[in-house]
Amino acid sequence: MLRIGQGYDIHRLVAGRPLRLGCIEVPFELGALGHSDGDAAAHALCDALLGATGLGDMGVLFPSSDARWKDAASVNFLREVAERLSAMGAVVMSADVTLVIEKPRLAPHLEAMRRSMATALGIDADLLSVKAKSSDGLGPVGEGKAVAALAVALVDVPARR
Ligand code: MG
Repeated sequence: MLRIGQGYDIHRLVAGRPLRLGCIEVPFELGALGHSDGDAAAHALCDALLGATGLGDMGVLFPSSDARWKDAASVNFLREVAERLSAMGAVVMSADVTLVIEKPRLAPHLEAMRRSMATALGIDADLLSVKAKSSDGLGPVGEGKAVAALAVALVDVPARR
């Protein structure tokens, strides 16, 4: 059965942290604050996949109270989610991620993000889309204080017996 899931994430941008988005490092003077590496794109994508499969959400699977996930590279979250999906026989049909950030310009990095996240999930990069837009100066994202990400995923989930 085809099921759809959505994911959303937002992280504060601060000095002294690397900016990791879509499982790559983007050169910038600010980085995302978070218990893990704060990769909003990877987190939104994880939540979309978990939503489509009814497996809960990132907070349930990777609680910030667990020291194991402190400063964790989010590629590990995607790998873990992919394993859970595969264990239940679920197959990712497609996923689409939108990053919202004022600066820096992400266009030169989108292809690398797409490949990196698709590799982490073990899916063909053609099944994944990664886009970026600004917030036109509006709100905390527009003021450069945060990076947000939205994702949807379409997953073929085996019918329950
Ligand atoms: Mg997050």
